[in-house]
Amino acid sequence: MQAHNGMYIDGEWRPAASDGTIEVVNPATEEIIGTVPAGTAEDVDAAVRAARAALPGWAATPPADRAARIGALHDALAARRETIAATVTAELGAPVSFARAVHADLPVTVAGTYARLAAEHPFEEELGTSRVLHEPVGVVGAVTPWNYPLHQIVAKVAPALAAGCTVVLKPAEDTPLVARLFAEAVAEAGLPAGTFNLVTGLGPVAGQALVEHAGVDMVSFTGSTAVGRRVGAIVGGAVKRVALELGGKSANVLLPGADLVKAVKIGVGNVMANSGQTCSAWTRMLVHADVYDEAVEIAAAAAAKYAPGDPTDPATRLGPVVNAGQRERVTGYIRTGVEEGATLVAGGPEAPEGVERGYYVRPTVLAGVTPEMTVAREEIFGPVLSVMRYEDTEEAVRIANDSEYGLAGAVWAADDEEAVAFARRLETGQVDINGGRFNPLAPFGGYKRSGVGRELGPHGLAEYLQTKSLQL
Ligand code: NAP
Ligand code: MG
Repeated sequence: MQAHNGMYIDGEWRPAASDGTIEVVNPATEEIIGTVPAGTAEDVDAAVRAARAALPGWAATPPADRAARIGALHDALAARRETIAATVTAELGAPVSFARAVHADLPVTVAGTYARLAAEHPFEEELGTSRVLHEPVGVVGAVTPWNYPLHQIVAKVAPALAAGCTVVLKPAEDTPLVARLFAEAVAEAGLPAGTFNLVTGLGPVAGQALVEHAGVDMVSFTGSTAVGRRVGAIVGGAVKRVALELGGKSANVLLPGADLVKAVKIGVGNVMANSGQTCSAWTRMLVHADVYDEAVEIAAAAAAKYAPGDPTDPATRLGPVVNAGQRERVTGYIRTGVEEGATLVAGGPEAPEGVERGYYVRPTVLAGVTPEMTVAREEIFGPVLSVMRYEDTEEAVRIANDSEYGLAGAVWAADDEEAVAFARRLETGQVDINGGRFNPLAPFGGYKRSGVGRELGPHGLAEYLQTKSLQL
């Protein structure tokens, strides 16, 4: 058990203002593996003051020097790869192979992209008779969720630092240990005191205090649409910039002529990864009526291969979900799906066989899902796939866009151009064409209620800049 009592504020680990703690639970064993301080408004205030004090110096630091510090941060994170993976396995329950490849390596990659972009970004441009300066927005309050805990931290902090902003981070209460590792990497990288500050704590206490703080110039929030809506109202009401990365219910559209086996198997894998706790997961699979039954059979067989198991075993592909509440929520959705008329073709709401402890959910496929069903509309955030039928391309477009969300999606067709033509008609922020690879430079973010703003790459950096025009 690791008992921590510090917050990383102004370049040092400081005792928290009050003595409340948060217990960190391993979702596979249900054991308490650590405690961190539950920060209050007082800690948030100290962190924001430190960030404000550091702002002028960091904003005036030449971009190449900022880039060098972010490069050092990249190296410090890369050196911690195994510790990061083991920590995310312990506090989130992510299978260790996935934790290495995604939870550890992806944020290292993203930090690397910002070490480059910080130096290359055009912070000044000439526009007719004007010189346009792209200046840092100021002090950024970052609030992050537990599902990709280090990635979501790096996707905010690295571009903010690259832009010349300073940051106060409030990470999710379920995954504060990897956030502490990040702060250790910041310290090792030699970033000036106060440029990055960490306050662990509860959302309605520390998170709320950060979002409301007068000394914060911009809030970047990733989490549920329910909380994001409230954050947006508070920050918008104060006439400050807000970035929101929220939920999703993304469509995976298999057009006639697509490689059915490949598309279905990759589609199932996309939903089962991270126990379905991925905001951009393709949780609605849309299949043409002619091949629908065949697709359902392939999906059920593919899902059955994701046997729930010990996340520390490198062979495990499906770990538990993050906590008991999440398990209740996910199994409740599976029950609702069946009650509303969907057919269970794999998995189900009962605990997996042979599992005595841990918050496990069986890999589940629901067939015969229709657009008005709850499991077609709401984000489940668990290993649950809904397979839906369409009769023609027009209906496929209609169903795909019949969602309040619009974060991601996929299109499979006989050739890329046909898939691209279909993707142009989708109301969503990111679409993978015929299994196109993840690109860490591609802008990521939502249409509709999936959010406001974009993260990653140059678009993610631009979020943290404001423009000033000088007329010469
Ligand atoms: P959440 O409850 O909205 O929490 C997100 C963060 O906000 C946590 O740090 C949370 O603290 C904090 N928070 C809670 N109440 C707050 C308040 N009143 N004021 C300020 N901060 C507050 O979401 P979650 O359950 O952690 O994550 C799951 C959801 O996030 C899913 O809906 C998923 O789709 C979405 N998500 C979206 C993206 C994306 O990029 N679009 C990425 C990942 C997740 P606590 O941890 O203490 O609750
Ligand atoms: Mg929460």
